[in-house]
Amino acid sequence: AFNAAVEAAQGALNAFIVTTPDAALAAAAKVDAMRAAGQPLGKMAGVPIGMKDLFATKGVQTTAASKILEGFVPPYESTVSQKLWDAGAGMLGKLNLDQFAMGSSNETSGFGKVISPWRKGDDTTPLAPGGSSGGSSAAVAARIAPAATGTDTGGSIRQPAAFTGISGIKPTYGRCSRWGVVAFASSLDQAGPMARDVRDCAIMLEAMAGFDPKDSTSLDLPVPAWEAGLNADLRGKKVGIPREYRVDGLDADVAKSWDDGIAWLKDAGAEIVDISLPHTKYALPTYYIIAPAEASSNLARYDGVRYGLRDLPEGANLQEMYAATRAAGFGDEVKRRILIGTYVLSAGFYDAYYTQAQKVRALISQDFMKAFETVDVILTPTAPSAAFPLGQKSTDPVEMYLNDVFSVPASLAGLPAMSVPAGLSRDGLPLGLHVIGRPLDEQGVLNASLALE
Ligand code: GLN
Repeated sequence: AFNAAVEAAQGALNAFIVTTPDAALAAAAKVDAMRAAGQPLGKMAGVPIGMKDLFATKGVQTTAASKILEGFVPPYESTVSQKLWDAGAGMLGKLNLDQFAMGSSNETSGFGKVISPWRKGDDTTPLAPGGSSGGSSAAVAARIAPAATGTDTGGSIRQPAAFTGISGIKPTYGRCSRWGVVAFASSLDQAGPMARDVRDCAIMLEAMAGFDPKDSTSLDLPVPAWEAGLNADLRGKKVGIPREYRVDGLDADVAKSWDDGIAWLKDAGAEIVDISLPHTKYALPTYYIIAPAEASSNLARYDGVRYGLRDLPEGANLQEMYAATRAAGFGDEVKRRILIGTYVLSAGFYDAYYTQAQKVRALISQDFMKAFETVDVILTPTAPSAAFPLGQKSTDPVEMYLNDVFSVPASLAGLPAMSVPAGLSRDGLPLGLHVIGRPLDEQGVLNASLALE
């Protein structure tokens, strides 16, 4: 049924880059056989899921939504996807995304934009599903996949979840292995689940997380029983409301949903505490130095020799082949990030930009650690607005980057953070609330999110 739903929705949503109906059926058959044989079944037994096309899948094209990787079929499987298959999940297909996970609207994909299943009332203007995990959010929101994987470097699980009325959690940096995930900004990249509700996210995160010796930043810790630990009773818990997030001109619908969230958490027994995260205003510029810097280094490997596309003009030498391949294969946003990244890492500017950004990153982390001396979790909006129309921000990169203003601070600090649906704007579009927790306290984040649900 899900295979058919995926097929039927492809024209309207463009959520998938490739579909793998046979893989989904094979996984289901395997679970049936195990059940018949009385074998124990995994956490995800029989659940068909969409896989963001940033995860390497053995024998199935993996592109990061970039033409430079078109035709690349990995001979290996990412650790996270392997864990999901081991837990009994099956793959519906590889989900579209912003190219190399760079973007907030899915418009930078080399395989066409993803269209949100949502509309503003009778207005037929196509809306952005958010990004970069826009194929994941659109597929789950349209109910053509019960769940999907996402990755989050500066908000790419949380903002698309907010735009489409679903749930998504970015765990603590290091919880999920990055092995086999196409790298964007390695000190920030984290995988996580996107699903209809908090419980589904808890189940799926248990299947995805865990130590992996193949990733040097993977945390060697047991995976907690998050699903069993779910509890929406927040008596005795303190929730911080950071005053710096109440920015001038905050969208009225977003402000109202934040106030609603505060009231819901109070109803659940939590004490609300006004807190300050003084370096918040530097988070966005810090992120847009560090992320492109790491990206420019990570993307150096796409040279026309090792993977995917090769553009070899008649008589070209090696240098010219590199240039032609990268010119043809990378999209504009990816090129912009590479240029910014190489600039901030260049000898003359390294100290002024990159070193400075690393220092500010430490200050942002310290703000959070100080706040967590008093509060258990922090509540903010996920994004500064509801979903915007496709095309509205695609010509103005700074406008697009501003979308990440509430999500990047937790990324820079490596903290677990979740977006949950929190009602609709006056136009009838979904809004998300954002819960940030202490390092390794996914349980606290899930529980506060459950109370908001
Ligand atoms: N929108 C942010 C960016 O473009 C975040 C992307 C992400 O988390 N992968 O960098």
